[in-house]
Amino acid sequence: MSGFTTKSIHAKFLKKDAHNALHMPIYDSVAFAADTAEDLEASFRGRKPAHTYSRISNPTVEHFEQKIKNFSGAQGAVAVASGMAALSALFLAIAGQGDNIVTTRHIFGNTYSLLSATLKQWGLETIYTDLTDLRQTENVINEKTRAIFLETITNPQLEVADITGLAEIARRKKILLIADTTLTPPYLFDAPKFGVHLEILSSTKYISGGATSLGGLILDYGTYDYRGNPYLAEQARKFGPSALLNILKTRVCRDLGNILSPHNAYLQSLGLETLVLRAKLSCANTLKLAAFLRTLPPVKKVNYPGLDNALAQKQFPNGAGALLTFELADRAKCFQFLNRLQLIRRATNLNDNKTLIIHPASTIFSEYTAEQKAEMGVPETLLRLAVGIEDLADLQEDLQQALEAA
Ligand SMILES: *Cc1c(COP(=O)(O)O)cnc(C)c1O
Repeated sequence: MSGFTTKSIHAKFLKKDAHNALHMPIYDSVAFAADTAEDLEASFRGRKPAHTYSRISNPTVEHFEQKIKNFSGAQGAVAVASGMAALSALFLAIAGQGDNIVTTRHIFGNTYSLLSATLKQWGLETIYTDLTDLRQTENVINEKTRAIFLETITNPQLEVADITGLAEIARRKKILLIADTTLTPPYLFDAPKFGVHLEILSSTKYISGGATSLGGLILDYGTYDYRGNPYLAEQARKFGPSALLNILKTRVCRDLGNILSPHNAYLQSLGLETLVLRAKLSCANTLKLAAFLRTLPPVKKVNYPGLDNALAQKQFPNGAGALLTFELADRAKCFQFLNRLQLIRRATNLNDNKTLIIHPASTIFSEYTAEQKAEMGVPETLLRLAVGIEDLADLQEDLQQALEAA
């Protein structure tokens, strides 16, 4: 079994289903009984794997994790309630007061907020640098740095860093390289090939199967020596490369209570089975729409890494995701254009089956000042188009009529 779609469809159940169901049923049960007091003790002590309480583990969620593991080739996966839940759990597990994470200001707005406000309040610092500048990145790392954190394609700046170069720095400094691969999940990006230790994904996006449900994933490729991290060193002596997965499952996620609901795990298991199909369609649509938009006079600065970015083409050979941006003359023109669209929906999501569009500066980034928005690479003239799987001609027609009217 080597093809992505085959792997996503044919993951084995960990236990034989009583009725030979082909889909893992939704186990909407909070608690699971043990046959004996001894069995219950053994499962609490981790000596006998068994589900006890759904905040700790659940059969439907576990099956989804198995499917993701099978699909990605990771040594294991942890599924949580959202992409933000995955990011917060991971940062809380690998870092503490006085430590820092090295990243860029060109990242998803809520991740920036998590780092610069919510976690900063607890003493975790963030060092912002330009991740596309390897020398500068290496120079800001200090003995308190626990990880370099990047987005494979940043949202919404669509910036692409040299991931192999960053991996080389992480290896020299013995720190983690963590990639948010929401825009380029496995199949579009081969994380271990480029030296990424941990992959974080909002499964709300591509995996959910068309924006059906929220979810988040942490994937560990087993390539980092956790003796290099003070919070995981002890765990590493017992569990080796599984130290992080172990601590997330047995403590951090249990304590935070951020587990994925069984119902969402079911939807996302189903979504995963058509991921490759949908990704092929939406990436192809995006590439063609980017080229098309470049031919339309009022449109400025069409940005799609798949179009003319050699680094992106090397790192994402199967498609550079389904997000593109372009600029119009000013904010008023952007709003006028948005209001004239008939098929494309004004909404803040991506990798829905439907094509969605948003003006980031007035929405996702509206809490920031003009100066901060400039630093974060989000001008008032920018529109973000999250391309779906509709027929290309219909999308082109809608964009063209709204531009002409505007
Ligand atoms: C959407 C998104 C997230 C957050 O995911 P949620 O599932 O909405 O919590 C994180 N990173 C990136 C790049 C995203 O696009």
